[in-house]
Amino acid sequence: MTERKLEGKTAVITGGSRGIGRAISRLFSEEGASVAINYNSSEEEAIKLRDSLPNSDIFRADMSSRDQVKRMFTEIKKKFGKIDILVNNAGIMDVMPFEEYDEIRVRRMFDINVYGPIYASLEALDLLKKSKEPVIINLASNAGVGTAAKGTTYYAMTKAAIVMLTKRLAFDFMDSKIRVNAIAPGWVKTDMTLSGKTEDEIKKAEEFFTSRTSLSMTGNVKHIARVALFLASSDSEYMNGQVLVVDGGRIDNLTHSL
Ligand code: NAP
Repeated sequence: MTERKLEGKTAVITGGSRGIGRAISRLFSEEGASVAINYNSSEEEAIKLRDSLPNSDIFRADMSSRDQVKRMFTEIKKKFGKIDILVNNAGIMDVMPFEEYDEIRVRRMFDINVYGPIYASLEALDLLKKSKEPVIINLASNAGVGTAAKGTTYYAMTKAAIVMLTKRLAFDFMDSKIRVNAIAPGWVKTDMTLSGKTEDEIKKAEEFFTSRTSLSMTGNVKHIARVALFLASSDSEYMNGQVLVVDGGRIDNLTHSL
């Protein structure tokens, strides 16, 4: 039997019951981790996932609420005692042309996408310090490193903040040896990219994003989960403060690289 890469580790996955988060929860569990699955509204999905993964449990918290995040980590501490891996995955994308600025919606996006990872990283810190190989993985986006899709300026800004949070936490947590890296996915089929669209719109979006990648394909949740596993495991032990773009080689990114 091949050795499992996360045997004995405890991982917290925010937004871990759906989409990319669910794929990460499943893969980390298969690789031997105990998984703390955070959810906010998707309780049914969370319960179903917990029941299918050994040594996992579910924790409700709206990641935009400091109090709820604090309470959640107290519960996680009680259950698991330490954390080895924190995946800041929970996020929303509210598509809105720049000039149609809606104060409440834009702030909500910043509250979940930017403040959520800040709160989780703050509250996880003491528990991560108990680990021998502590890791934080942030979900940024290729939108946050330079690709453009209409109506996503505010979302892209939240993800650009995650790129910098990743680099700065790698520096700030240097003495605690916590490795902090990020994944910047391209267009991945999940509720975030598909919900509310008609079949025809989905087909068009798929064709559009396929034509934008040098690999001529769109992404799936497993593409991202496998990179998360690499960043969570000792396979990436010499990496810190990096952002891995996982987007099929977006043409509009390749032509604007450094
Ligand atoms: P998704 O399918 O829409 O799932 C979003 C997840 O975030 C859900 O589990 C949801 O949990 C959770 N969430 C949202 N608001 C929350 C809150 N206030 N508190 C706690 N959890 C909350 O999205 P996804 O595509 O898997 O995206 C996951 C991450 O990857 C996001 O950070 C996203 O920005 C990033 N990303 C995605 C793509 C893509 O193409 N899909 C591309 C680049 C980056 P509940 O349902 O329980 O609220």
